[in-house]
Amino acid sequence: MQAKTFHTALLTGNEAIAAGAYKAGVRVATGYPGTPSSEILPYLARFNNAIVNWSINEKTALEIAIGASIGYKRSMFTTKHVGLNVASDPFMTLALTGVRGGIVIITADDPAMHSSQNEQDNRFYSKFAKVPMFEPSDSNECFKFTDEAFEVSESFDTPVIIRMTTRISHSKSVVHIEPVYLPNMNLNSENKNNSYLKEKIYIKDIEKFVMAPVYARKRHKIAIERLKKLQEFSNNSGINRIEYNSLDFGIITSGVSYQYVKEIAPFASVLKLSFSYPVPDLLIKEFVKRVKSVIIVEELEPFIQNEISSIGINLKGKEIFNRFGELTPDMVKEGLINAGFIKKYDNKSSGKLLSKGGLSELDNLLKKLPQRLPALCSGCPHTSIFYALKKLKVPVMGDIGCYTLGALPPLNAMDSCISMGLAFGAAQGLSLSNSSPKKIAGIMGDSTFFHSGITSLIDAKYNNACFTAIILDNSTTAMTGGQDHPGTGKNLSPGQVMSNKIDIKRVVEGIGIDEIYTIDPYDYNAVYKTLKKALSSKNLNVIITKRPCILYPVKIDLGKKFKILEGCNGCGLCMQTGCPSILNSGKFLDNNKPVPFIDSSCIGCSICKDICVFNFIEEIKS
Ligand code: SF4
Ligand code: SF4
Repeated sequence: MQAKTFHTALLTGNEAIAAGAYKAGVRVATGYPGTPSSEILPYLARFNNAIVNWSINEKTALEIAIGASIGYKRSMFTTKHVGLNVASDPFMTLALTGVRGGIVIITADDPAMHSSQNEQDNRFYSKFAKVPMFEPSDSNECFKFTDEAFEVSESFDTPVIIRMTTRISHSKSVVHIEPVYLPNMNLNSENKNNSYLKEKIYIKDIEKFVMAPVYARKRHKIAIERLKKLQEFSNNSGINRIEYNSLDFGIITSGVSYQYVKEIAPFASVLKLSFSYPVPDLLIKEFVKRVKSVIIVEELEPFIQNEISSIGINLKGKEIFNRFGELTPDMVKEGLINAGFIKKYDNKSSGKLLSKGGLSELDNLLKKLPQRLPALCSGCPHTSIFYALKKLKVPVMGDIGCYTLGALPPLNAMDSCISMGLAFGAAQGLSLSNSSPKKIAGIMGDSTFFHSGITSLIDAKYNNACFTAIILDNSTTAMTGGQDHPGTGKNLSPGQVMSNKIDIKRVVEGIGIDEIYTIDPYDYNAVYKTLKKALSSKNLNVIITKRPCILYPVKIDLGKKFKILEGCNGCGLCMQTGCPSILNSGKFLDNNKPVPFIDSSCIGCSICKDICVFNFIEEIKS
């Protein structure tokens, strides 16, 4: 037998998930972009044998994966944590039907909310749905566990969750991988190793896939029985492992916390949970019996702690560590000091000593940097809308995208941002409350409109609502890095699935809305006049702004620069746009007002020129 050639590759967790899915023979992979999960599908699309596409939203993405599984194909669905809420309806019942081809669900959680509206801990979904879960601690495990997860899915007839977090998704670490599973070494080859690539003829099985009560009741019992078998697997598969060291100190941990524990307390015995639901009850009992003092280190909620408590073992965890935000090595160290595992200046522990107040050197350095709020890019086409909305002083129900930054100073032009696709529903609800003397505006981007804004706009027309719906069409999903959506007419696997371009205006017309305005957001005067007109009309109306994002899919350079002329009276209107190219020069006029200036990052959108009512901004002529 020929020995396999292994290669070491430095991959992010997301790339390693894609490589693992390719190795497992995944045939259909779907998802909706969401940080920190967005890079998995584009990486997988670099291989040749899977159909990899963005879907309109997470629910649809999972539904497609389910259909592929019913057709005996391995399928994968990727999402950020909140996206699983959107897909939770099919997910909860998929847990009852089980699978044919394996289904792996990647949920990438975002502790500390680096780019999210909440920090829900999706490990609870696995318990809620009675679905097994892997938690990798590095990229090598991402690769191995994804392959393994498909096996578990088919062996136990269940979907499987792989729970990532931002640090695991985006950190690079070494993966031991055969070159054939790396896309750049595999440009024109098919993965022929996997038996799951063989075609099977579809047959009907209504007892398994029609969840009418008569069959669903039976399937629920099967799902409960399945959990017992999964717990045996959790105890015996070797995926969960004990690393014995000192028998005085023991730590039960999972995910990225495992890395911090190994760095800070290399002397401690560790029970590493990689298959963390259902928990390995026998392994836990063995560990607790042998090690004198055991605590739990986990990020966010006391998930492991609760599971261990449910088997009658009470250990400390959240009494020592935060229930919010990310853990860091310094926080783990501080917790272990508080738990009496290490002394403050103990040489046995590694990691830098904490400075006063528990802050790391990095924290201290970060504190010294000037504070700056996030802002729209220079020349972002959303700028003019928010500037005009602020002037018109109307309540604005907002949504999730780059444009959420319109809520922050100096624009201050958004009143709510709660979940994807909420804006039009909330605008309808607020208008029904009759609490605002002014007409309400709802605002969302093109990708969000397709994701879940369409349904609430249909509802608004159906229920005769009266508000102004604004769709900011910049022809991309900008916030997550410029992914395609139905309005772009492109997708990740264009050779395998033809994409069609869906026209937003025609969708709105199809709903039966007659008052529709399409405007160029770089024409500030038209933006202001149109908003004013739409907001004084007694109809449900729609404004579509059309201008591509300046960063995606290609960086736009309009080839123009603007400057502020001598004589500027320091009124500050241009600075109220929030354009990062307009800065305070540090000089002051006689009236003590600061003099603005425009730096070389200006892309020449001309919005500030239109806003300066005194005509002190003009294009630089070369
Ligand atoms: S990435 Fe695009 S949409 Fe986002 S702020 Fe920049 S220009 Fe605006
Ligand atoms: S023209 Fe004005 S608003 Fe546009 S990028 Fe330049 S400075 Fe910013």
